[in-house]
Amino acid sequence: MAPSNLHLKRVFSEAFHQLDRNGKRLRPGLSSIEVKFYPYAGLHHTIRIRSGRVFVRLSDLFQKAPPEVIRALAFLLVARLLSRKAPSTEEKIYRTFAFSPELQRASDLARKRRGRKVISSAQGKIYDLDKIFDRLNRRYFDGQIEKPTITWSQRRARSILGHHDSVHETITISKALDSRDVPEWFVEYILFHEMLHIKHPARLINGRRYYHTSAFRADEQRFQRYEQAQEWLERVIRRRGREVRARAA
Ligand SMILES: [Zn+2]
Repeated sequence: MAPSNLHLKRVFSEAFHQLDRNGKRLRPGLSSIEVKFYPYAGLHHTIRIRSGRVFVRLSDLFQKAPPEVIRALAFLLVARLLSRKAPSTEEKIYRTFAFSPELQRASDLARKRRGRKVISSAQGKIYDLDKIFDRLNRRYFDGQIEKPTITWSQRRARSILGHHDSVHETITISKALDSRDVPEWFVEYILFHEMLHIKHPARLINGRRYYHTSAFRADEQRFQRYEQAQEWLERVIRRRGREVRARAA
């Protein structure tokens, strides 16, 4: 069974407390730590800090790793973050698991299957999607939307402006919007729409999935410049002569 989220947070919190004994640098509480499994292409984990919050993504190949391996991994990642040397025992526990034949095989498979699903970055040339997300979350959701991975698309897709992938907990926004020609409130609207997909999960009715329920649509109208955003969408559609819409797939 995969470790519970609270358990994961505890493990990371403990790693911070043990590795940062002086407590001078960073000792985040449980509520400031976010840990998620993520379907990276290979064996890969990330840890980062943003405004005092710690965001951790672990390779989902570790979902069934034994508790001591998760603990070792937490120590390695936190040590990396604090620029400390990781304890050699933890290093050994991690490596024994990560370089086992089973895991290497799973990792190779994942790389083949997922190789093309590339996460680029939330920071575009013009707009920072992470910042916009935080602002929208405060303004419209009381900060209650759990942050997914947010990224600009690799290509400048014009047929789909936004996409929420509930399996990988990812929001992708078309790079075509990362432009001075696009007002910030329109990028906000597209991201807001995708955030609503997190708040209103798809409903299964008679074997069909409904993404834009009436509750979803009503909620969407809370967007301050909703009318303007709709007009902009229309213009984009007319200008390009094909269907352009924000949607979830
Ligand atoms: Zn949608």
